[in-house]
Amino acid sequence: MFIMETKFIIKTLFIAWENGNYVVGPSDLSKKLDIPKSTAYKILIKMSKLGYGVYLERKGFLLTDKGLKEGKKLIRRHRLLECLLEDLGVRKELICIEASKIDLDIGEEFEKFIEKKYGQKVTCPCGKPIP
Ligand SMILES: [Zn+2]
Repeated sequence: MFIMETKFIIKTLFIAWENGNYVVGPSDLSKKLDIPKSTAYKILIKMSKLGYGVYLERKGFLLTDKGLKEGKKLIRRHRLLECLLEDLGVRKELICIEASKIDLDIGEEFEKFIEKKYGQKVTCPCGKPIP
């Protein structure tokens, strides 16, 4: 559970980074995840202790290379999975939702499969870049 939660947070922070929001404060994260600001603050401190970022007092959290690398990996997996769901005929408006339900849990073999099959793609079905 803890590991999944960490991955989920990294994914969220990486999407913010992708959108040009490089520094994420506790209030930003609390809005994104619909959690109390104090909890968001604790999460960001925990993430920095794990080495995924640095927490700048009064500013917010900034992903480190380790955090960016992990974020890229998770988003790449999410978007490759979306390519698979599109191929399976899942309705476009459900693709991202369904991919989000499983993207953090798929195993190594599954990941290798989608990497082999869709790894050459540059964008996901919604047009976002596959990092
Ligand atoms: Zn998506």
